Amino acid sequence: MDRFGWVPSFGGNISARLDGRSIAITRSGGRKGFLGRDNIIAVDLEGRPLNAGDRPSAETLLHCHVYRDLPEVGAVLHGHSVAATVLSRLVTGPAITLAGYEMIKAFEIHHTHDVRVSVPVFENSQDMERLVHDIGPELPRHIPGYILRGHGAYAWGRTVDNAMANLEALEFLLQCELETLKVRGLSAA
Ligand SMILES: [Zn+2]
Repeated sequence: MDRFGWVPSFGGNISARLDGRSIAITRSGGRKGFLGRDNIIAVDLEGRPLNAGDRPSAETLLHCHVYRDLPEVGAVLHGHSVAATVLSRLVTGPAITLAGYEMIKAFEIHHTHDVRVSVPVFENSQDMERLVHDIGPELPRHIPGYILRGHGAYAWGRTVDNAMANLEALEFLLQCELETLKVRGLSAA
């Protein structure tokens, strides 16, 4: 994620399920391209640290939301890419529709031959409890991820590798949409 430029400065966070009741997640702060063991903490599925004194990042609640709603998910990745940030500001509706791209088939859970998929875009907020409420109790089933407007993308999968493959596919598609808008001009948005 760092190599692709998706976690600039202290942005983004990375988590993996430990068991049915806890996850490992990057702590608040820390540059994600330079992680050591000290940068990762364990929290329960409500985002409470297992070791008192550990300080989870505010967005830990969004990761926990995914693990609670989707028991098959083993990893959640969140980055602050230029494509997700810019495109979600240009497209004003509640979703970005991706159509006609071969790469749509890359999504782990996208089994159909339909080459149109709608990526939910939720309004960004600094209030994570409100954000979880706005996203709703049921995460999208048709695509393993969503976008926070002007902020970045979340993607998940059964394993860290699966989650990364899904994030790569999503970021590739968002980058294609952004490049298309650049070539066509912003009026196309
Ligand atoms: Zn973020």
